[in-house]
Amino acid sequence: MYDVIVIGAGPGGMTAALYASRADLSVLVLEKGIYGGQLQNTADVENYPGVGLVTGPELAEKIYKDSTAFGAEHAYGSVTKVEDHGTHKTVHTEDEQYDAKVVIIATGSDHRHLGVPGEEEFSGRGVSYCAVCDGPFFRNKHVAVIGGGDSAVEEGSYLTQVADKVSVIHRRDELRAQKVLQDRAFKNEKMTFVWNHVVEEIQGDDIKVNNLRIKDTQTGEVSDYPVDGVFIYVGLDPITEPFKSLGVTNEEGWIPTNEKMETSVPGVYAIGDVRETVLRQITTAVGDGSIAGQEAFKYIESLAD
Ligand code: NAP
Repeated sequence: MYDVIVIGAGPGGMTAALYASRADLSVLVLEKGIYGGQLQNTADVENYPGVGLVTGPELAEKIYKDSTAFGAEHAYGSVTKVEDHGTHKTVHTEDEQYDAKVVIIATGSDHRHLGVPGEEEFSGRGVSYCAVCDGPFFRNKHVAVIGGGDSAVEEGSYLTQVADKVSVIHRRDELRAQKVLQDRAFKNEKMTFVWNHVVEEIQGDDIKVNNLRIKDTQTGEVSDYPVDGVFIYVGLDPITEPFKSLGVTNEEGWIPTNEKMETSVPGVYAIGDVRETVLRQITTAVGDGSIAGQEAFKYIESLAD
């Protein structure tokens, strides 16, 4: 029986592990991929105070080291279900099951898919959701980025380091991204903006993407837009399927909490991007993680009373 199981080793989950283990609790962090979560797909981080400009993987490595400093264990595990037995919970993975007094859900979110013809077919053959991973394949090429949020604009700017031209295709005529990112993108000579257009279909030959069929949202006109690749950044979906049976998710799948990161189930906390929240940042995930780690300690103390 662990005191705490943290599900997900993003910056929030690793911070929760740091706080809980530093409070002398036994902690297991389960992760189905590599530690760091979305940090591993982030080129540059410039809004995490204290470390200056750092790459996502570098910051992930630093937080991982800190998360293990007080004895928290990390293990591979793809969680399928969590059962609540009152004073303890059972966490099921594909191969194992673990018991803990507290579960902290830190599974984050996944990039949403567009859901247009050609998207699945050309996934990995010109369709990507990760500029850091796949950008180098598009050296001196023309790529499109779909979306108008922070991810589209920031990752689009990153892609100009390798691609010759980056076209941001957005369904409205103004961006949702933070102003600082917009200002930088508008000044970038390699970036162009295709306003008021949506992608209807992603097309290609036997090998890879070569064209987008795009529709003008004002006139309804559909046209060809030749590109060598397309990066899709149209928002995030929560990774909460394994927790639906616990009854902690809202209609859209996010997990509401109070300011102590408590969900509707005592002893189950949620932190970071998976939470119903107004801001999804590394800093907010880390803040959530520290609160949950501390609250886990108090909750376990209360069980002993
Ligand atoms: P987001 O903020 O939800 O933006 C999604 C964008 O995709 C919006 O511009 C939206 O258009 C567009 N969109 C949604 N569905 C679409 C569809 N079916 N077809 C075409 N366009 C569609 O998502 P995000 O940019 O991935 O950001 C997610 C969160 O992470 C945000 O909280 C963001 O602030 C944060 N983030 C922060 C940073 C940073 O601080 N440096 C970097 C990356 C992400 P509309 O604008 O018309 O709705």
